Amino acid sequence: MSYDPDNVFAKILRGEIPSTRIYEDEATLAFMDIMPRTDGHCLVIPKTPCRNALDASPEQLAAVIATTQKVARAAMAGLGVDGVVIEQYNEAPAGQEVFHLHFHVLPMREGVRMRPPGKMGDFTEIAGYAEKIRAGLA
Ligand code: AMP
Repeated sequence: MSYDPDNVFAKILRGEIPSTRIYEDEATLAFMDIMPRTDGHCLVIPKTPCRNALDASPEQLAAVIATTQKVARAAMAGLGVDGVVIEQYNEAPAGQEVFHLHFHVLPMREGVRMRPPGKMGDFTEIAGYAEKIRAGLA
């Protein structure tokens, strides 16, 4: 399986399609998921190409997991949630749809279940959650 440089997250990295960015450093980018399964659902990706955890280098994995922890902590603080699910899928049979390594950060509230995948979120609401997560980073 090879890396397709025209996948949607590669286009986000190149600025060819819009995204609601939360955090970035030299090696990673965090931005909001447009079909959020929980309020504040966001994604963390490496800036360099790899399909998923199977072909990623130890350096890519280390950078992405460090940013994932940072964003998960920021979501807890900024959104005031009770917990965070961190998810990551490898290849289509496992549920992967976008073939650029990404970790899902899903803020969880007591007694509130995840929504089913595939439903577009409200952009104003998503921007509001992004603002709170950014505040949690500070
Ligand atoms: P998966 O590959 O199944 O781990 O998930 C891909 C995720 O990317 C899904 O949660 C989608 O809602 C999300 N997604 C797809 N396109 C975009 C986009 N343009 N901006 C932000 N998130 C996206």
